[in-house]
Amino acid sequence: MNIILLGPPGAGKGTQARMLVEKRGMVQLSTGDMLREAKDSGTEMGQIVADVMARGALVTDEIVIGLIKEKLETVKANGFIFDGFPRTLAQADALGDLLEAEGQTLDKVVEMRVDDEALVARITARSTCAACGEVYNDQTKPIPADGKCSNCGATEFKRRADDNEESLKTRLMEYYKQTSPLIGYYYAKGVLSRVDGLGAIAAVQGEIKAVLET
Ligand code: AMP
Repeated sequence: MNIILLGPPGAGKGTQARMLVEKRGMVQLSTGDMLREAKDSGTEMGQIVADVMARGALVTDEIVIGLIKEKLETVKANGFIFDGFPRTLAQADALGDLLEAEGQTLDKVVEMRVDDEALVARITARSTCAACGEVYNDQTKPIPADGKCSNCGATEFKRRADDNEESLKTRLMEYYKQTSPLIGYYYAKGVLSRVDGLGAIAAVQGEIKAVLET
């Protein structure tokens, strides 16, 4: 089963994708993670995207479609979770073509709904384990008191450079202008389901499970 987690920055896509990887053995394809890796390892592409990402703007369709194409052609999986991709109608069309070329289908698109004020609060409170990527939140899921990641025991945590109010404004605007039309696009294709992304992590997980099992 191949699925898309669709929602604004801070909706919890990454957190839920990690759980699906753990529980169902699916493979998470996060273009944001791929771009951050390229940036951190200083590749030519990484240098090109660094400034765009810091501002919260969208990287070109050509770059992200190329990243996904490479993964779909080389990684064998018991289902992919697309996290942060597609973000434009051109990307959505390209994903449909790429899946078809691989003899695969897009089975579900799960829209994670969260109100804007909650997003700002979530994003400015979020940090991740530098070793395994486990996501923490200062209010709802703080870093354990012993300073060790509950998943892997590492002691270093980081905050994303673009998790600040200024770039968040741009990221939200990009979401509403470029990505939210995908809700109608996938509704029309008959693959859209909605979950309430505002609930506790386990509650959202339960809603997603129900969607995937219908
Ligand atoms: P994310 O981790 O999904 O929030 O992505 C972080 C940043 O990477 C975004 O703000 C964009 O600059 C860039 N990015 C990630 N995925 C895409 C995509 N599908 N299309 C364009 N830009 C992307």
